[in-house]
Amino acid sequence: MANIILLGPPGAGKGTQAAKLVEARGMIQLSTGDMLRAARTSGTEMGRKVAAVLDAGGLVTDEIVIGLIDEQLGRTGHGGFIFDGFPRTLKQADALGELLARKGLKLDAVIELVVDDTALVGRIVNRAEEAKAAGQPVRKDDTPEVFEVRLREYYKNTAPLIGYYWATRDLVQIDGMADMPVVAVAIAKVLDKA
Ligand code: AMP
Repeated sequence: MANIILLGPPGAGKGTQAAKLVEARGMIQLSTGDMLRAARTSGTEMGRKVAAVLDAGGLVTDEIVIGLIDEQLGRTGHGGFIFDGFPRTLKQADALGELLARKGLKLDAVIELVVDDTALVGRIVNRAEEAKAAGQPVRKDDTPEVFEVRLREYYKNTAPLIGYYWATRDLVQIDGMADMPVVAVAIAKVLDKA
């Protein structure tokens, strides 16, 4: 059982790799983005509150996402938690440390998917086209314009976590530009050592 954070800008492949880990290792994917989109679709009060922020590519408040994660950490009987898209700010990182400690859990690794920013826009446009072709809903924030805002948010608020987790010796950097199965093998090696 290992608890890991997948860190990287939007389009780095965090969700894709998390899904593989869920299947292969019975881990639980905790994607705050998925939770927020679900809240929005189901029309909860919180979902309505965050809808505009999601569409604009901004960050919702720390309190909301920390609360969403807190609700999930009591789950047992699985292969570990994958934090996907959380934490995204230093405050969230501190809060996660405290929540895990309170539950008697620990963080085993923070895996940064290192990617080339110029390639990311192409990936996002692809993701939107694939969703459309498969008859799935296209994310409103998967447009080149909103993507730019999301990337800016990443560098302003989330990239400092790379230094934060380097300092705690949890950071492992993986080439996120490699083919999907190659990235998966690299992540598996980290997990097998954890
Ligand atoms: P994602 O699916 O991870 O790309 O997240 C989609 C959107 O949800 C982001 O652009 C933010 O608006 C919001 N979001 C997801 N996770 C967080 C978080 N940890 N902190 C703040 N906002 C978040």
